Amino acid sequence: MTRPSDGGRIEVICGCMYSGKTEELIRRMRQVRIARQSYRIFTPRMDTRYAEGQVASHSGSRLEAITVATMREILTYAQDVQVVAIDELHLFDDDPAEMVRGCQWLANRGARVIVAGLDLNYRAEPFPAMMHLLALAEQVDKLYAICVKCGAYATRSQRLIDGKPAPADAPTIVVGGLDMYEARCRACYEPAV
Ligand SMILES: [Zn+2]
Repeated sequence: MTRPSDGGRIEVICGCMYSGKTEELIRRMRQVRIARQSYRIFTPRMDTRYAEGQVASHSGSRLEAITVATMREILTYAQDVQVVAIDELHLFDDDPAEMVRGCQWLANRGARVIVAGLDLNYRAEPFPAMMHLLALAEQVDKLYAICVKCGAYATRSQRLIDGKPAPADAPTIVVGGLDMYEARCRACYEPAV
């Protein structure tokens, strides 16, 4: 492992659904690969949309990844690599504090840690682990989608059930396809009730 003076840092890529977070993570990791730095990419076991063992964006970019469920597993695989990328951080079923501690530990040891995930759940409330990492990170990039209603920049993920907003007491995490979520701006977002 490199020393902290060698550039340990946390980078957070956040935004709503369809804002291109995974695409951006893949772009950065392609550069890392070209630079011949050592790296590992992790995806949560809960994300069943794509094949295990790879990270994939909606637009079809993909890279090899390790599918895990906890930060403990990430730390097992991420020893001694220069760059650690974690996609869909909000989807790990681990304790949020554990996810944050692990990212901090890796960065303190000198690793470049790149995290991508939703900043807000479908109720437009912050995901705890992302909220903390956004504050602790050296670099934050908030990406936007286009609101399907009005064409403004979208920052919210609207979950729909039969075309209506999902109720507030629905599960926070439901991994779904294109038909389940819409990107919406603040004005067009319909709060869950
Ligand atoms: Zn709108």
